[in-house]
Amino acid sequence: MSTDPLLRHDDLQEAVPRQRFLLEDTGFDEVPPKYRRFYRKWRGPGDALAANEVICPVCKVVIRSTRELRPGDRVYCMPCMSRLVVVRAEDGGLEARVAY
Ligand SMILES: [Zn+2]
Repeated sequence: MSTDPLLRHDDLQEAVPRQRFLLEDTGFDEVPPKYRRFYRKWRGPGDALAANEVICPVCKVVIRSTRELRPGDRVYCMPCMSRLVVVRAEDGGLEARVAY
């Protein structure tokens, strides 16, 4: 399994290629070192999500992928072991919901 939290995507079916992101370790220490760059703490009001980030609705950690996230993507939150699906939020941004 890939270390990237983005579990499923299919570039070949997408007309517009996904933007890629280089991730840096921000010191998130609730997962093993190899996975740390894929998560960060939400810094509260004033913080903003990038196109490759979404907040876990369960544990409020920011999940980060090396690729831009889009509605329908499935992501995995390792800190709380939740499987999530990315949806379009009312404000036009992206949000994650627990996938059952
Ligand atoms: Zn979580």
